Amino acid sequence: MLEHGERPLTTEEVAAGSGVPVSTVYRNLAELVDAGVVVRVAGAGGGDRHELAEAFSEHHHHHLVCTECGIVTDFTPSRQLEQLIEQEVGALLASEGFEVAHHVFDVRGRCRSCSSARR
Ligand SMILES: [Zn+2]
Ligand SMILES: [Zn+2]
Repeated sequence: MLEHGERPLTTEEVAAGSGVPVSTVYRNLAELVDAGVVVRVAGAGGGDRHELAEAFSEHHHHHLVCTECGIVTDFTPSRQLEQLIEQEVGALLASEGFEVAHHVFDVRGRCRSCSSARR
C-alpha cells in the first residue's frame, strides 16, 4: 500500500487509497513499523506519515517538509551531493569514532502552494 508513493503518506491517506478502515491501517502500519518494513517520517504537525523502509524500496531519497501545511515530499539529491554528504559526514564522524551506516536528511521550508499563497 506504500509501494508506489512519491511521498510519505498519512494513515488516513493510506486508508483512503486502499479502501481499508483507518483503524485497520493504523494497526497494520504499527506492525510493519515494528517489523522494520515501514518507517515513520517526521512531518511538521498533522498525523504520522509512513513510507517503505529504504531497505525495501528501490531508491535512497530525502524529504522536503513544509512547515505550513505539513506535507512531506520525496526529494532525490544529485549523485554529487550524495557523494559529498557521505564523504564529508563520514570523514568528520570517523574522527569521532562514529561509524556511519546511512543518513537521513530533511529540508524544511514552505511548499509551492504555501509559498505562493503568502505572496
Ligand atoms: Zn505546504
Ligand atoms: Zn542521501
